[in-house]
Amino acid sequence: MERTLAIIKPDGVARALIGEIIGRLEREGINILALRMIWMTEDQARGFYKVHAGKPFYESVTRFMSSGPCVVMVLEGKRVINAYRKLMGATDYREAAKGTIRHDYATDIEKNVVHGSDSPESAAFEISYFFNELEIFKR
Ligand code: ATP
Ligand code: MG
Repeated sequence: MERTLAIIKPDGVARALIGEIIGRLEREGINILALRMIWMTEDQARGFYKVHAGKPFYESVTRFMSSGPCVVMVLEGKRVINAYRKLMGATDYREAAKGTIRHDYATDIEKNVVHGSDSPESAAFEISYFFNELEIFKR
């Protein structure tokens, strides 16, 4: 079993897509081990996306991620990092496969509704950025 960090980004929360996205996870058999609503400061968003520091979209995406509340979740499942990234679809919604969250709901390459860790190393960093072990449900 593997873990990953998922975020419903401020656009997804503002557009009342929390239930829709969580429903998709549950229907795929992905387990939710922790879940919280947060509103990041710009500094917290900068720390979260520090791997992108210096890229042309860094300032904008960190402003966006701190523009309103997000839902952060720890997910668990078999190869869940890739399984959940498949459910999300490509970063650019115009390239996202039909039936993916970003294909169905994203409106912009930046405002793309959801985040998911992209490797075991980033999952470990990102989960610990928001949750301590006591907050993660043990099955
Ligand atoms: P995420 O890390 O949010 O799950 P991702 O792994 O598909 O998305 P990354 O390359 O890690 O994509 O980029 C992080 C986020 O930065 C993207 O989800 C998007 O919100 C924003 N972003 C990425 N590339 C661009 C771009 N070219 N222009 C504007 N925003 C971008
Ligand atoms: Mg990424």
